[in-house]
Amino acid sequence: MTTQGVAILGSTGSIGTTALRVLARHRERFEVRVLTAHANVAVLRQQVSDWSPGFVALVEGDGEVPATWGRGPGSLVEAATRPDTSIVLNAIVGAAGLDATLAALDAGKRVALANKESLVVGGELVGAAARRGGGIVVPVDSEHSAILQCLGVRGAAEVRRLIITASGGPFREWPIDRIRKATAHDALRHPTWSMGRKITVDSATLANKALEVIEAHFLFGLGYDQIEVVVHPQSIVHSMVEFRDGSVLAQLGVPSMELPILYAFSHPERLEDPGIPAFDPIAAARLDFETVRHDVFPCLGLGVAAGKAGGAAPAVFNGANEQAVALFLEGRAPFGAIADAVHEALARHAGLAGDDLPALWHADAAARRTVKEMFR
Ligand code: NDP
Ligand code: MG
Repeated sequence: MTTQGVAILGSTGSIGTTALRVLARHRERFEVRVLTAHANVAVLRQQVSDWSPGFVALVEGDGEVPATWGRGPGSLVEAATRPDTSIVLNAIVGAAGLDATLAALDAGKRVALANKESLVVGGELVGAAARRGGGIVVPVDSEHSAILQCLGVRGAAEVRRLIITASGGPFREWPIDRIRKATAHDALRHPTWSMGRKITVDSATLANKALEVIEAHFLFGLGYDQIEVVVHPQSIVHSMVEFRDGSVLAQLGVPSMELPILYAFSHPERLEDPGIPAFDPIAAARLDFETVRHDVFPCLGLGVAAGKAGGAAPAVFNGANEQAVALFLEGRAPFGAIADAVHEALARHAGLAGDDLPALWHADAAARRTVKEMFR
């Protein structure tokens, strides 16, 4: 069997390092040929010495790096389009991953997409790039991987509803007053998943579920009225598909990103992997499902409304959320202000045009500016 070349963008992060752990068990099938990081030179250097990739890029960061390394945001496009790779894992966090997703799809690659912000900010453009270049998007997000697995060969026409599960985050049972004053330390203690800081905060506000509803809309071509969110604290059922005859299929597993990452590489094939944690139905005997407390977690409703509004609204939602989360993590905004900031940015900018990339970046910048001004 020939090996497939893989590019890992954001290799130093939570998804990136997990992917390298998985790929280390599948060296006969996949070869890591590209690695990129934002600023973490120390971890990137170690990965380069472990994997000897043909191309390495560091977007920012000081210090001496080899002259052959790509530098600056433009190097991500080269990383995403190298001719010796057929798979690009986009594990960058935030809208900063959009250009690489578009470039990889234009170049005909399979994009194993963890960077859901790509689809939220530029869903229409991502679809157009895939059609133009012949690339495909295969989701890494566990919920969307579950839906893809449940769908099998069935298309959107046979689906009545997607039911996306949410752990509910660390504040699932907290009273609203306590949540508004929660600290970064509180928000970063996720009950079931170990992830990067930004998505962990998004899981605490439920902004992550809004991003995932928009992601599902673009990935599977379903209307927003066909996508529901249900809280499932154990994170065992990764999502469900209800077909038009009423049959519901679910995909189950322990909360680990190793399986959805591997599946994004191998889909539709399934590879043997003894390293992936085994499922024990007795240990997972209790599965609870609850309704979302929308009054306590307004980011979910705000994001879904932005998705329905279309145009630049999802980009405004995302940009405002990224900026507010950054300020929260720096200790400059309280937890409750994240939803306020997103609300304010949408009120001001949701009507902006989102027809092309410059328009989307304009909306993203406007949203970030509004949020920064709120916490000056
Ligand atoms: P991390 O913060 O752990 O890692 C982010 C990676 O992207 C790092 O390699 C980082 O480099 C790099 N990076 C950060 N900013 C930039 C930038 N501006 N330009 C280029 N590279 C950048 O995030 P996660 O791994 O948790 O998440 C990555 C993506 O996957 C997110 O979109 C998230 O929503 C999604 N996802 C994550 C899951 C998880 O379990 N972690 C589950 C489902 C989806 P450096 O280390 O140098 O800063
Ligand atoms: Mg998810």
